[in-house]
Amino acid sequence: MKRLLYTIWICCIMVLCCGCDNGQIQAPRRYMDTAMGTVISQSIYCPGEEGARNFTNRSMALLRELEQEMLSRRLETSELFRINASAGSQEGCQISLELFRLLQECTELSQASEGAFEITLGELVELWNIDQWAVGEPEQEKPAFSQEEILRVRDLCGYYRMKLESKEEYRIFLPEGMSLDLGAVGKGYALDRMRTILEEEEEITGAILSVGGNVLTYGRKPDGSSWKVGIVNPFEISSNIGVLSLEGQWCVSTSGDYERYVEVEGVRYHHILDPATGYPARSGVRSVTILSENGMQGDALSTACFILGPEKGMALAATYGVQALFILEDGQLVLSEGMERYWSESEQ
Ligand code: AMP
Ligand code: MG
Repeated sequence: MKRLLYTIWICCIMVLCCGCDNGQIQAPRRYMDTAMGTVISQSIYCPGEEGARNFTNRSMALLRELEQEMLSRRLETSELFRINASAGSQEGCQISLELFRLLQECTELSQASEGAFEITLGELVELWNIDQWAVGEPEQEKPAFSQEEILRVRDLCGYYRMKLESKEEYRIFLPEGMSLDLGAVGKGYALDRMRTILEEEEEITGAILSVGGNVLTYGRKPDGSSWKVGIVNPFEISSNIGVLSLEGQWCVSTSGDYERYVEVEGVRYHHILDPATGYPARSGVRSVTILSENGMQGDALSTACFILGPEKGMALAATYGVQALFILEDGQLVLSEGMERYWSESEQ
């Protein structure tokens, strides 16, 4: 009898210690840093410190490499910089297979969204000076330029005028005056690449990563509870309007008018531009959240759906098999059917 009780006691301790560190439920190892002009936060469940450190060192090196060698519009070392500098040239610009594939996927998304998603609007982003707008801290001065100027620069855009070629090598040709901006997909793409590293680090059992508010969940928590991803309340950005409870591997991408903007005389000029008008999109939407398996797609779709609004946006999300949550200007929430399963509203 004594022996039986002892065995039960040991079993209990084993169950309690499953996922525990020194008898306690294992806490995540948390890291914060900056890269790609944004905040990176990583919470990692890993029994040993070394495994988690290896991962964060590798993931931060990856993000810096992506920025410096591929995605930055500003750094001369990046492929994107070289592409933009080659606009109008006969020979175009040679690019890596990786970027070629990313640009192909962007073109498909532009087609599917009927031009709402448009990476060729680099000059429009430049004109509105979006990169200079601080996140969450509005400037007070409206950029000084005329409607004619906006329309002139808008007419430089158009994904169908960008040509991708794969012969012995991969090339892109941009017409004179056009430039690319990958701000709408870079963070989601980075998360996809970070997930590959997570899969390689066998010691890591679970993680939740955020690249500028785009979130990746991976594996499971030691206590078996679900991942909680808070969704910002666009009407009160210091609080969440609700929470997604997720199991396993997901990407959560949000595009909102509160992220970067200038506000002048009650009018908000934000960073999500409608290629049809050249102005910040006015679709009655404050934010769109996409829940997807693929980070790049989710990131692109949150931007596209913001511009399209709830009806067309919901249809686009459905064609990609992703879930969507729209928060409208009148405070209404519109959720896809699949999203409802994960969603719970915060108590106000
Ligand atoms: P996100 O925060 O993912 O919605 O991306 C917004 C960023 O994408 C902006 O800061 C611009 O750099 C870029 N962008 C703005 N409008 C568009 C658009 N219609 N299509 C693609 N990229 C855009
Ligand atoms: Mg996006």
